[in-house]
Amino acid sequence: MVVYIDGKYVDSTEAKVSVFDHGLLYGDGIFEGIRIYGGNVFRLEEHLERLEMSAKAIMLAMPLSRAELSAAVCETCRRNKLNDGYIRLVITRGAGDLGLAPWLCEKPTIFIIASKISLYPQEYYDNGLSIVTVPTRRIAPDALPPTVKSLNYLNNILAKIEARQAGALEAIMLNSQGYVAECTADNVFIVQKGEIVTPAASAGALKGITRSTIFDIAREIGVPMREADLTRYDVWCADECFLTGTGAEVIPVVKLDGRVIGNGKPGGITQRVLASFRKRVQAEGTRI
Ligand code: PMP
Repeated sequence: MVVYIDGKYVDSTEAKVSVFDHGLLYGDGIFEGIRIYGGNVFRLEEHLERLEMSAKAIMLAMPLSRAELSAAVCETCRRNKLNDGYIRLVITRGAGDLGLAPWLCEKPTIFIIASKISLYPQEYYDNGLSIVTVPTRRIAPDALPPTVKSLNYLNNILAKIEARQAGALEAIMLNSQGYVAECTADNVFIVQKGEIVTPAASAGALKGITRSTIFDIAREIGVPMREADLTRYDVWCADECFLTGTGAEVIPVVKLDGRVIGNGKPGGITQRVLASFRKRVQAEGTRI
């Protein structure tokens, strides 16, 4: 596998970062998870825009322009002959002396991995996931804006462990007010009385690129959609529920905390959204 790192394309065995990299020492960095479908990178511009906003928020000077990053992403896929897969683009504060101060780091480290992805097994797309709410809360927006896709994932990782201990593959994380924020790596949606509802970023949700695609799909299929605070009760009593993420795409949820959602099967609107999403990923994108 070929990895892009700091301007070079090298074999993955040669792709190394320093033990003094602040991305490793302090989680000081940002990233994007991006998909390529049939040789087209899905919503690359949106991912790069989100990355630029994350960089701005943490006051990290982007080492490459949007066009240079876009070219590097596409070239990494080409060099790996990857037409379908997952791209991980990471920018860290770079290597510097010990100590939190980001100005100890001379220049950011940047690397791009283009690889295969293992999705949830097909049976969960057909039959839906059974998930749980976990005790670990989403980091509050006044502590670290959830809109920053940073290398700080420990609270999501703890939530993932709690989900596994409860026998579930995903978990709903609440914010400090007790409202639904998101899942450990996916955004959450419910369908209630023919309307799609999802938590706002202010409730602790990442502004997912798949989530923004769902707004477009809702318009296309004529289903109203809005952002609102959601409680666990709202999800338990919803007609349908689904999750979205670059890795998971659109996946139905049929049970939360032991409560069956709707009729216990992936809902009609969820299925329409999923079908439209699958069409879009084949039709849209930046040709590598
Ligand atoms: N929330 C979190 C915490 C995430 O890490 C992700 C990305 N996997 C998402 C939501 C979904 O965002 P996207 O659709 O951009 O992948």
